[in-house]
Formats: sequence, structure tokens, C-alpha cells
Amino acid sequence: MKTLYRSRLLLPSASSAIIKDASMMVEDGIIKGVGADNGLRKEWKPEKTVDLGNSLVMPSFSNLHTHVAMVMLRGVAEGKPLDLWLNDMWAIEGRLNHDQLRAGSVVGLYDLVNSGITSFIDFYDVMPMLEALKLFKVKATIGLAFLESYKEMKDESWRRIKMVKHYEDLITSAGARMALAPHSTYSCSEELLRELAKLDGYPVETHVSETNDEVLKLKEGTGLSPFKYLRKVGLLNERLIAAHGVYITEEEIGLVRDSGAILAHCPRSNARLGSGIAPVSNLLGEGIRVGLGTDGPASGEDFDMFEEMRMAVYLSRASTRNPSALGIREVLYMATEAGHHALGVGSGKLESGYPADFISIGLDRLPVTWDLLSSIVYGGSSSIIKDVYLDGNPIKSDYRVRVSDQMALKDSIEEVKAFMDGGKGI
Ligand SMILES: [Zn+2]
Repeated sequence: MKTLYRSRLLLPSASSAIIKDASMMVEDGIIKGVGADNGLRKEWKPEKTVDLGNSLVMPSFSNLHTHVAMVMLRGVAEGKPLDLWLNDMWAIEGRLNHDQLRAGSVVGLYDLVNSGITSFIDFYDVMPMLEALKLFKVKATIGLAFLESYKEMKDESWRRIKMVKHYEDLITSAGARMALAPHSTYSCSEELLRELAKLDGYPVETHVSETNDEVLKLKEGTGLSPFKYLRKVGLLNERLIAAHGVYITEEEIGLVRDSGAILAHCPRSNARLGSGIAPVSNLLGEGIRVGLGTDGPASGEDFDMFEEMRMAVYLSRASTRNPSALGIREVLYMATEAGHHALGVGSGKLESGYPADFISIGLDRLPVTWDLLSSIVYGGSSSIIKDVYLDGNPIKSDYRVRVSDQMALKDSIEEVKAFMDGGKGI
């Protein structure tokens, strides 16, 4: 099917100029051309035209670090630092059964698609997420978690080393891609991390250098800072997605850049837990790849990438006292192309040859402004996203997420509420 999309404005990539009265030609889910005139129509003779109206079309978002089902833990442990916060999380997680985790995943995925995210990497319980994914079309990378410091997961973590292929088959047959997800250097042994490093061919996501306390303890125990330690165990390479990186040192910056690893910046989560502020503009200036992650809803609250982008900009500028420390286009790049590329989905630009993964933003939901892109970053929210397309198919239309099973969504919402009520929620 050859479809021509028309919109008032179109931003082909984070670094390009906005095209007015734009046309985008898509054939079988792949972009064939983008332009400002009807030359595309003459060249391609589309079978269908979709008018996206008074909107800005731009690449969809990628969420490079999250724990979707933590919808079930939203609001827990307010005001606590990461170590105490994690203890509260693990205590409640021990009570969550498969159906509740699936319900949390369904409700979270709804919010994620609503937020214009078409690719993400999850880091939680595999099977409930795979079931939840049946309701949505989205490009998922599913992290197989390893966590020895949590007693229920100690033996299971080692069992999983031997079952990686089995999990990979389950995940790929659900249309997703698998990643290895050791929780952190402080919750997994060196022996386990070395075993994981031997499993070639998978992306690896882990929490790294998130708090000062983590860095001090690791140095005390091993004499090494977190990224140096990851290099020692064989995990610092181009497959690594390092979540947080708040306390990355000058020395480590060179190591990370040379390794090709990408950092998943999670400014809201880091701010809320009082963990600190990652030196993002410095990292970008040094040539490190950086994407954006919302983290789970228990520390990031939701999946709103606009919130994440503006928090990244605010914290970067406030901490460096520099109003140009992190540019609007830089943060747009982090939220789109950088994440998609790290997850190997090939999206992030609206150019010939790219998958037609894009969003349309309703311009009537934005104020009149001299600078549209800055107003989108500073004033946007998931509610301004009118449409979301994945491989040329709508997954959100006219402000409503498309769900294959409305009843299952309704049941999941009820299940989440029931768990919260049972746990003395509101
Ligand atoms: Zn996390």
C-alpha cells in the first residue's frame, strides 16, 4: 500500500529544518520520500492520502530505560534514597503475582504508547510483559533480569544463565527482542557478570553509577569505579546501555566513549530520589552517546517524554549555570534517534529508507509561539500527541490509543486499582 501523509508541518529529524505544508510518502511501512510540494504525489501515485491536518509530524520517541510494570508501585517510598527505596520496592514486588504484573504491564504500555513511544527497553518480569504486549503494537526489547541480592532471585539468576536461549525463543516469538539485564554491579556478583559478558549478541542494560553511595561501596570492595569495574568484567562495550551514569568520572568518560556504550539519562528519577544530576552536556560534548529513559513509574511517575526532555534541559542548565548547556535539538535527538538506534530498530528520522514510526502533534493544543520546538519541549505533554504511527500503521489515532482488546485493558485497570486498594493505596 502506498500512502501519502500530509500535515501543516513536518520535522524530519532533530537536526533538520521544519518543512511547511509537508508531504510524506510511505510504502509498506517504509518512508519513500518527504517534501514540501506535491512532487511526491506525481512520482509515487499514492493509493491513499491521509490528511493529518493542523499538526507537526516528527519522529516517534524511544524510551531507553524503564520498568513498565512498576505502575503497580507508583507512589511507594516517597522521600527515600535509592537504597531504602529499593528495599520497599522489593518487599512489595514479592507480593505481586503473574496476573497483577500483567495488569501493571498493560496499563503501563497504554501510557507508553499514548506518550508517542514506539521503541523501548523494559527491565522487569518477562512473561507478564510478553502477555501484555499482545494488546499493543510497539517495538519492544525485553530485558531478562538478573538480581542476586534479592533472595527470591539469587538461584533464579544462575538458572537463567542456562536458559537464555529458551527466553530468547519466547521473546522473539512474541515479536520482541531480548536483552540481558543484570540489575547492577552491587546486586550481582562478579562471577555472574562475567558469565553474562560471555553471552555475545544481546544488548546489555544495567544500572550504573546511579548514586554516590553505590560508587563509594564499589570502590571500597573492588578498588574500582563502576564503569572501570564493568570494563574489568567484560561488559563495557557497544552492547551496553548504562542507565543513569550520574557519577561518571572524567577518566571514565574516555573509557565509555571509546567503548561505544550508550548512556540512558533518567533526569526525573535521579532528581526525585535525590541521586544527583548526570553531566549530560559534558558527556555529549565528549562524544558519548546518550538517550533518554523515564525509568519506572515508581521513580519517574509516567512515560511522558516531554517531561523527561524538559527535566533534562532544566537540570543540565541549572547545574552548569549555562542557558545553552543542553540544546532543544540535542534533547530531541536523545529522545528519538539516539534511543531507537541503540535498540537497533532503525527509526528516528523521517527520511527515505527509514521505518514510518512517527507522531503528529496537535498544533491547536500549543500556545502561539516564536519558537515551536522550544514550546514543544517546555510546554508539551503526552496529551498534545494526536497520532502515533508504527511502520505506517496507526497505534494512536485522534488522541486515542488503539488497543486490540478493550475488555482486557479495562480488567487490567481494575486489577491495578484492586492491588493498590489492598495495599492501602487510594
Ligand atoms: Zn531503573
